[in-house]
Amino acid sequence: MPVIIEPFRIKTVEPLNFTTRAERETALKTAGYNVFSLRARHVTIDLLTDSGTGAMSAAQWGAIMQGDESYAGSKSFERFDSVVRDLTGFKHIIPTHQGRAAERILFHSALQLGDVVVNNIHFDTTRANVEVEGAEARDLVIPEGRLTAFVHPFKGNMHLEALEAVLKGEEGPRVAMVMVTVTNNSGGGQPVSLENLRAVRALCDRYGKPFFLDACRFAENAWFIKQREPGHHARSPKEIAQEMFSLADGCIMSAKKDGLANIGGFLAMNDDALAQKCRNLLILTEGFPTYGGLAGYDLEAIAQGLVEVVDENYLRYRIRSIEYLAERFLSLGIPIVQPPGGHAVYIDAAALLPHIDPLQYPGIAVVNAFYLEGGIRTCEIGTVMFGLHPDGTETPAGMELVRLAIPRRLYTQSHIDYVVEIAATVKEISWALKGYRIAEAPAVLRHFTARFEPLRGRTAAAQVQ
Ligand SMILES: *Cc1c(COP(=O)(O)O)cnc(C)c1O
Repeated sequence: MPVIIEPFRIKTVEPLNFTTRAERETALKTAGYNVFSLRARHVTIDLLTDSGTGAMSAAQWGAIMQGDESYAGSKSFERFDSVVRDLTGFKHIIPTHQGRAAERILFHSALQLGDVVVNNIHFDTTRANVEVEGAEARDLVIPEGRLTAFVHPFKGNMHLEALEAVLKGEEGPRVAMVMVTVTNNSGGGQPVSLENLRAVRALCDRYGKPFFLDACRFAENAWFIKQREPGHHARSPKEIAQEMFSLADGCIMSAKKDGLANIGGFLAMNDDALAQKCRNLLILTEGFPTYGGLAGYDLEAIAQGLVEVVDENYLRYRIRSIEYLAERFLSLGIPIVQPPGGHAVYIDAAALLPHIDPLQYPGIAVVNAFYLEGGIRTCEIGTVMFGLHPDGTETPAGMELVRLAIPRRLYTQSHIDYVVEIAATVKEISWALKGYRIAEAPAVLRHFTARFEPLRGRTAAAQVQ
């Protein structure tokens, strides 16, 4: 394959932070062995998330200087509105300060106690915003979407038979809306095919349900369709994205992902009455409907970002850069979720550290090894994140993953080669890594603030050695 180079050159630079091993040991200990509590200045390569962490273009920074900060009806809103309308085709475009504000406003306006929302897999804030309304968030991704090593081109697809069973069963009347998350973040950034979206549309028509996209990574999804779905190779990513949106009745969007902005989001829909309800709530908590909690300059940055994100050269590079990291990991024998998704590579920590019990958090052991060996910050998506239940019991999560999320346009290939080098070291010392215990943790969303203690003593692997 020819080398695919970064389709940009660098106009403004920001120094990386370097630390010594001793400094990292102190920083990690002070953080309670939880990388969420590290100071960013102690991190060299930050792969904690791809949300709001990307680099903006010269054109975006230029647009920021054009921001119109009029309270109502600003020129910047006009530009934002026309770009989002051209892309999505929806009738009502409502800016919000980020994706979860769009979720809260939509669900508070559309859901009632006892309703059910069906999705391929709800993202964690999406689930929380459904549940806070007293509704149930149900995940119906295809079974292949939960098998880490199983290769399938569209692992984010909705399980259509399961969806139809719910819609036509006795719970059918309680289903308030069907959503599809593109790409499926919680399932490894896996794409959804156009064929699957069309079939979801047909089921929603048959059973009279509204269909919303959680569209945070719509452009990455469109690129996968162009590459993998027969009949779409010659189409532009924008055309494919427009067709994706045309199949839905509305969407929620975090502009911190495929908006290529550092903050922002929107809610869009065709239903006039629902849009009116949403705007009323927006005014209460976010702001006037032509700024929705954002500055005029943020609307400019997002509008320009949405134009740049569907550029073929950008998307080819973006998806290839994730694939490149995944290939290097596989050649080192590091087990990962396959195929890699659109925004991150996920290490299977349970397979890498079979000697650590799930309740001793193999994901945390991998995360902390990446930090200690190379100052790289990653994120556990396993038992610490999902293992604690509302009744206080703890069980192993379905998968013990460590996510290396790649911020958009931020790091170059040599940064990624450095990550690969550190990964090789982590693999080499993996047999000697130890588990952790939780020293203190809050009852909900414990992964953000828990404090850990490294377990000493002999692990099973150490005994084998
Ligand atoms: C990030 C994200 C959200 C929430 O957006 P924020 O901007 O972080 O509030 C919702 N859904 C998905 C799929 C996401 O990735």
